[in-house]
Amino acid sequence: MESYDVVIVGAGPAGLNCAQKLSEAGKKVLLLEQNKIIGPKICAGGLTGQDLEYLKLPDNILGHKFNKVTIHTPLQKCKIKLDAFSICTIDRKDLGQWQFAKLKKTGAAVRTKARVTKIEKDHVIVNGTEKIGFKYLVGADGSASLARRFLGVKTDIIGIAIQYIIPGNKYKDFEYFVDSSLFKAWYAWIFPHKDYVSVGTGGDPRYVSSKELRENFAKWLSQKGIDVSGLEIQGCPINFDYRGNKFGNIFLAGDAAGLASGLTGEGIYQALISGEEIAKSIIDENYVSDKIKKLLKEQKKHHRILNFFIKSGELRKVEFEIIIFWMKIHWFLKNYF
Ligand SMILES: Cc1cc2nc3c(=O)[nH]c(=O)nc-3n(C[C@H](O)[C@H](O)[C@H](O)COP(=O)(O)OP(=O)(O)OC[C@H]3O[C@@H](n4cnc5c(N)ncnc54)[C@H](O)[C@@H]3O)c2cc1C
Repeated sequence: MESYDVVIVGAGPAGLNCAQKLSEAGKKVLLLEQNKIIGPKICAGGLTGQDLEYLKLPDNILGHKFNKVTIHTPLQKCKIKLDAFSICTIDRKDLGQWQFAKLKKTGAAVRTKARVTKIEKDHVIVNGTEKIGFKYLVGADGSASLARRFLGVKTDIIGIAIQYIIPGNKYKDFEYFVDSSLFKAWYAWIFPHKDYVSVGTGGDPRYVSSKELRENFAKWLSQKGIDVSGLEIQGCPINFDYRGNKFGNIFLAGDAAGLASGLTGEGIYQALISGEEIAKSIIDENYVSDKIKKLLKEQKKHHRILNFFIKSGELRKVEFEIIIFWMKIHWFLKNYF
């Protein structure tokens, strides 16, 4: 049986980063990806300052760079000027291919069209037939993770996000829309890319059913005059139910570990960091990851804010208006006094 030090399931940001760090440290690594092409994933592709600082991406692969963010409520709008162009969008295929190019230089083995169909404690089965052995396995296989299911790790809290990809470059601003009557504690977004825009929303099915989410999204699109006729709606779960990342010789990274934010839906940064930190834990069994602790602290903070807004019910409308009004005052005082 073919065998590796580490087999990684899934070539998203978590799996690619984990494979790169392990391979650079001399581990014999195999990265398995079910898709033919590495990168494409249903995602709005929004990156914040921390992603940019970590990745150091070349400008030519970025979609758009923004030096301001606009937040809308039903009654007001607030433009937050950033100190630099510290928010940007990236097409997920471009991000994946950029990470893949770096990984290839390390000599790691990568297989596409390689779906892991079964996991056992020391081997995986690929495409239903091929048996591949491992000392360690990393489940970086996203929100519907097979590795997580194999481990019997429950997922009770999982969000759903939906979007349209609208061709063209009509929209220029990076915008959030909070509207409690339509999106409850969550929001809708408009994230412009080079030659398309991602327009979407999300929520937690415990509080907003996917039917209600779609209907309210359609209502909002029509209110805003955003034409999506003929376009296909895309949807994908986002796992934010973290229950650990190390289970004996099997690790979970990124969405498979439930590291995304239930409040903002962001998960790329968490995927990258957890991928690297898991690699370090495999290289040195005594390694203790402060960075994962930091991610979890931030996730808890997001969930506290989210729970506050969920519990606020009807009051939420007023809370959103007060927060945005306060942000506007704060911006005014900061800039004029
Ligand atoms: C609509 C939407 C918008 C989003 N917008 C943003 C955003 O703007 N910013 C942000 O930071 N995050 C965003 N996210 C979240 C972000 O997409 C995820 O958190 C991130 O992709 C997680 O990375 P990952 O590497 O853990 O998993 P993934 O990116 O999901 O990668 C998992 C990989 O594993 C592969 N795979 C799965 N099962 C198998 C198998 N059995 N065998 C082999 N391969 C397998 C998949 O094909 C995939 O390539 C959004 C999510 C959605 C749904």
